[in-house]
Amino acid sequence: MEEKEDEDILRYFKLRIQHVVVPKDGVKDPTNTNEICGICLGKFKHEETIGTLGCEHEYHACCIKKWLLRKKNCPICRTSVSPFPSTKTVQMHSN
Ligand SMILES: [Zn+2]
Ligand SMILES: [Zn+2]
Repeated sequence: MEEKEDEDILRYFKLRIQHVVVPKDGVKDPTNTNEICGICLGKFKHEETIGTLGCEHEYHACCIKKWLLRKKNCPICRTSVSPFPSTKTVQMHSN
């Protein structure tokens, strides 16, 4: 099933929601424009879902998802991407 494969891809990056803070005076800070998706080269927009790889490079979740289906490395630094360990480890198993 394709859905199962898609779920597996989600383990290769962490998800977060982008929050863009727009200054009240509308002055754009040119030094604050480094949050760009290295795959589609589009800027991260407010409340977009961002996927962070283990090398800490960030992409749109939809972009990195498509990329990882083909290649298991970072588009920018070429670091091979491995899935994050499962968070379902049982720590309070006292039985
Ligand atoms: Zn993108
Ligand atoms: Zn990277």
